[in-house]
Amino acid sequence: MKRVGFTTTIPVEVILSADKIPVDLNNVFITSESPYKKIDFAEEYGFPKNSCNWIKGIFTAVMEKNVDEVVAVIEGDCSNTHALIEIFRGEGVKVHTFSYPYGDLDKYSFIKREIEQLALSLGGDLRKTQEIARSLMPLRKKLILLDKLTVDGYVSGFENHLWLVSSTDFNSDVQKFERDLDSFLSKAAGRKPIKNRICLGIIGVPTIFTDLYQFLDSKSVSVVFNEVQRQFSMPFMGDDYYQNFLDYTYPYDIFHRLRDIKKEIEERKIDGIIHYVQSFCYRQIQDVVIKKELNIPVITIEGNDPESLDARTKIRLESFIEMLEGRKK
Ligand code: SF4
Repeated sequence: MKRVGFTTTIPVEVILSADKIPVDLNNVFITSESPYKKIDFAEEYGFPKNSCNWIKGIFTAVMEKNVDEVVAVIEGDCSNTHALIEIFRGEGVKVHTFSYPYGDLDKYSFIKREIEQLALSLGGDLRKTQEIARSLMPLRKKLILLDKLTVDGYVSGFENHLWLVSSTDFNSDVQKFERDLDSFLSKAAGRKPIKNRICLGIIGVPTIFTDLYQFLDSKSVSVVFNEVQRQFSMPFMGDDYYQNFLDYTYPYDIFHRLRDIKKEIEERKIDGIIHYVQSFCYRQIQDVVIKKELNIPVITIEGNDPESLDARTKIRLESFIEMLEGRKK
């Protein structure tokens, strides 16, 4: 079966309807034995040092022939993807494109057309796509349960991050993913819940730091919300397949995301937010709006390489936690 890589979350059911294997290229990069080697390879190829390392990782994941073809999201994700497609095409890689609507278009008609075109381009089938979406509903509900168990203290913030971020492609094997999730959930439900005094949310693209969650654990704070990872798991998936991709917030403007973030802050009783930003990412600029709009403390931390937290970031996080504890007292 052909393996189809993608640069960010797309309607994965379309790939499955074409009897092809979905592969999230971000996950190939970050879970590889040495993500650093992938960055080095891209830089030796000619990628500038001052460009995003996720893009370099995605590039190398494709060049190492982890996939047979690529779906690139050209609106609603990353401005670098346009240049990446040009390089892929120059290298003879088969590229399909997909866009989320931008601006005041008739968004519903737009996304419907994009999904139809993607199915055509990949050799998929729309009726089968919708059947697969329905059959995946129980699995998506289990991911919602996992998220709830995180708020209740049975699942750690890191485990939450890992499961939700892996749900973009179900680790390329839906059945195995569901079996593993079932066994994880039954183990987690039998644990003694951990209730820390401080509850944090992490917003922004998934972190490239290798030990952020472990560091927060060591400070006895709970991460009860992983914004973007939760979006990747499509927790709002309903009967109208096209509408789901309009309810999904990640590819849209910051105000759409903020509505979701504010609601979750309220419901999960979050004390503070860590806004993670990636070096050289345009999304860093949105930090201005986020800080203006959220009425709880926000700390912004920036990562570049796939390595552990630097001393300065650790000190800043410690001070942030102390300040939150002070407020709580
Ligand atoms: S972190 Fe930002 S720049 Fe990097 S791939 Fe993601 S959206 Fe693009």
